[in-house]
Amino acid sequence: MLVLGALVVALVGGCSAVPAQPSGSPAPAPTATAAVTHSERPQVEPAPTRTPAPAEIWDVDSAESLQVVVNKRRPMDPADFAPELVTVSTGNEDGAEVVRPEVDAALTALDAAMRAAIGEGTFVTSSYRSYDLQATYYRQAVARFGQQGADTTSARPGHSEHQTGLAIDLMSTSMQCRLAHCFGDTEAGRWIAAHAWEHGFVVRYPEGSDAVTGYAWEPWHLRYVGPEVSSAMHEQGIATLEEFFRLPPAPDYDS
Ligand SMILES: [Zn+2]
Repeated sequence: MLVLGALVVALVGGCSAVPAQPSGSPAPAPTATAAVTHSERPQVEPAPTRTPAPAEIWDVDSAESLQVVVNKRRPMDPADFAPELVTVSTGNEDGAEVVRPEVDAALTALDAAMRAAIGEGTFVTSSYRSYDLQATYYRQAVARFGQQGADTTSARPGHSEHQTGLAIDLMSTSMQCRLAHCFGDTEAGRWIAAHAWEHGFVVRYPEGSDAVTGYAWEPWHLRYVGPEVSSAMHEQGIATLEEFFRLPPAPDYDS
């Protein structure tokens, strides 16, 4: 009992608290007592492990992050953010469409894959839009449809994913069903829906996700998020960035 008590004191104090053997005395051989001590050593509880939420792994807040999430509840920050841009290398409107360099590289690969698969290339009809250009588009939409109508199709300035330089409106070189829902039923639209993820893109506003994304189905609007996120979303069968990053749905503006 006495021996056990001493051992417990030594253990509580940690290894350095074990009194040193007097010099000259032999090192203690492993004994049954030592074995008992080991088995009675207080079990250290493993630190509770918690799987970090995707929004903690990826930077969904910084305007320059490839995984930034912009929607009706998450405006661009800063509102006038302008990224580094390059001209789109593949087919595009007036040869004047611009995107982040990462997007152009991925789009070039997607274009090549689509040409090889269905014999049609990609054609970008809209890409980066500055805060001011989006403000103009939104004003025009409000004048035409009223604010409520405008909010279902056109983003308010500072809330458009196009301002990130990571979003493109994509047609095929045949220009079939330009910016129309029937694009989703064309061979190109179906191919893009099935294969965009292989190149780091997601169809940002999928069919039936209005309550989450705040927008009706847009089979032409692709968002670059990088292959790690697009592959994970594909593997997990998750349709929207809000659900993947476990962010609140953004069906409408706060005010
Ligand atoms: Zn778009």
